[in-house]
Order: sequence, then structure tokens, then C-alpha cells
Amino acid sequence: MALTEAQTRELLAKMRQRLVVLEEEIARKLGQASEEFSAFDRVGDSGDLSTLLNEGEVEMSEALRDIEEWRGLRGALRRVDEGTYGVCVDCGTEIRFERLSAAPMAMRCIDCQVQAERREPSQPSSM
Ligand SMILES: [Zn+2]
Repeated sequence: MALTEAQTRELLAKMRQRLVVLEEEIARKLGQASEEFSAFDRVGDSGDLSTLLNEGEVEMSEALRDIEEWRGLRGALRRVDEGTYGVCVDCGTEIRFERLSAAPMAMRCIDCQVQAERREPSQPSSM
């Protein structure tokens, strides 16, 4: 069953709240470098992302993790706009609300997530 309007609203509210928290966290951790913040939305993958950051700064890896999550959330919000949110990118099945509620930026149903993690063990879980 597709998400109801109320469920979508609930997930959106959750994601937006999290984005605000993350943005504050990232700005705090990056300090000066947060001027680069707007660039994070444009880079293609985390490989590019790390080149934007100065090496050797203590909180960088933590900030990077937050930025990854932030990017994931932005992507999820984009999918809401596009009307593709809540549909598994691999098999096209609708992802259960319970799963999205626990992991709002999940792009795959549980079955495909497990498969994907087997294929790419280096990918962090979005469970
Ligand atoms: Zn699937």
C-alpha cells in the first residue's frame, strides 16, 4: 500500500527536523570551512566530497558522516517532490511505512537492502 498523505507528512517533518539538526552540527564541526557547505549538495559522491575538506582536521570525519546523512536526506526530499519516494529503487516495491519511519532516507526495501549490502559491503547501512 502506498503511503498516505498523513504518513508522508510525518516523514517529511521528521526529515526536515533532522536536516536542521545536521546543518547546525556540520556548521559547528566545520567552522570556517562551512563556507564550502553549499558545494556539498552539488558533488557527485563521497569521493569528491572528501576532496572539498581539508585533511587532518580532527572533526572532519565526523562532519563527513553528518554530511553524508544530510545528502541522503536531501535526496529523499527530492524523491518526495518527484513522487518516487517510498518506492524501492531496485525492485519497485513500495517500502513499508514502518521501515521509512525508522529510516526515512531508505531507498530500498529490506530484501533489496540486504542484497545491496552483500554486493557492496563498504556501503554504510541506511537501515
Ligand atoms: Zn526492493
